[in-house]
Amino acid sequence: MFLSVFDVFKIGIGPSSSHTMGPMSAAASFLRLLQQSATELRAARIRVRLHGSLAFTGKGHATDRAVTLGLLGWCPADLDLEEAERQLEELRQTHLLRPPGLPSLAFDPTVDIVFDYGPALPGHANGLVFAALDSKGVILLSETYYSIGGGFVVTAAERDKPKTVAVADAASWPYPFENAAAMLRMTRESGLSVAAMKRENELRLRSPVEVEDGVARIWSVMNSCIERGLNRDGELPGGLRVRRRASNIYQQLLAERQSNSGQPHAASDWLSVYAMAVNEENAAGGKVVTSPTNGAAGVVPAVLRYYLDHCRGAELDRVSDFLLTAAAIGGLIKHNASISGAEAGCQGEVGSAAAMAAAGLCAVLGGTPEQVENAAEIALEHHLGMTCDPVAGLVQVPCIERNGIGATKAVAAASLALRGDGSHFMPLDNCIEAMRQTGEEMSAKFKETSLGGLAVNLPEC
Ligand code: SF4
Repeated sequence: MFLSVFDVFKIGIGPSSSHTMGPMSAAASFLRLLQQSATELRAARIRVRLHGSLAFTGKGHATDRAVTLGLLGWCPADLDLEEAERQLEELRQTHLLRPPGLPSLAFDPTVDIVFDYGPALPGHANGLVFAALDSKGVILLSETYYSIGGGFVVTAAERDKPKTVAVADAASWPYPFENAAAMLRMTRESGLSVAAMKRENELRLRSPVEVEDGVARIWSVMNSCIERGLNRDGELPGGLRVRRRASNIYQQLLAERQSNSGQPHAASDWLSVYAMAVNEENAAGGKVVTSPTNGAAGVVPAVLRYYLDHCRGAELDRVSDFLLTAAAIGGLIKHNASISGAEAGCQGEVGSAAAMAAAGLCAVLGGTPEQVENAAEIALEHHLGMTCDPVAGLVQVPCIERNGIGATKAVAAASLALRGDGSHFMPLDNCIEAMRQTGEEMSAKFKETSLGGLAVNLPEC
């Protein structure tokens, strides 16, 4: 299955790709389905049921707000927060949706969005069922969606699509690598880097200018997010009373740099502060890029900013090689295991992000494809087993700091790989499979349900 760099890195809003962006996209998709459907004129009300992890941690992730925004016709990439707030306020007063081409539909989010705390749907931990009802409450149209991580959404039918379709899909790309071994073999046969092969694949869908401009825009949104996070103070929303820390740490680091008084390990603080800036913005519902998810959105931008601002010989021109390499690794992990906290725990989110960032950094520091693969493997290996246990279902504790530590591990992994020749004991493919198996056997308590781990070991207030 080919995953474009623009699928891996999607511009959207916080706090969660699976619990905010995915449900918003699902709701917008259901609205389009209703607009195209023959039942449109008789529909009088919309009902939504959230299942599994979406029910357990949906309130903390603002899933209900996201679903409502989707039903108002918004998609994550084009959301105008000011106009959306105005429409939400109008809905609070009227309890009516007024979608173009349809009659007004009754919808009160406090009643018509049901958090179902029963067993998850069989297809995935993050399920949503939308229904359009007539004035007597009879269901006219219904669709089930799964938010499978990274903002990706599939219907129940798409999820069950036979494998033969994926095989046909693979045949249509110049470099159809579906695992790391094939990726390395193709680099040897073609003489191209991982980024160059990925770029060739992207050119099947877009012109060279569209690819380069699109990747530049991704970096621009990532970097703006870092800048906003570095310069904002205050308490994060959600009731945990967690305060933003990035701005204060940033000021300390600037002062130390000015007076040349910082310790050598301050480099890891720079990485942490860039990542924390992004994740604080994400927790506040700001504009972010899924990398590969919102919860793990800080790692890749932090390592890329670290490369540009701190590494000798860094060049802005290498940003697209960094992001294309990272996207190639993210695609392999998503295809063969998971990037979703609800499916695989945090190893799937921050672990994947660290592997992607390590690969990207290794590539732009001159690593061979073998070293790039080694860097990704080292970073992923040392996140194996990491659970997802966000306190109160909010993407704040442990997520914000965890991105900082993930970024430092990514740089350590790239550096270690660059000191070798690329040969190593554990192939990336085996590590990805280990992650998949570990995620499969992980208790549901540790997969974005906030029913175990840190989420149930809170300090006395
Ligand atoms: S603990 Fe990790 S996987 Fe879970 S929400 Fe936080 S960042 Fe995402």
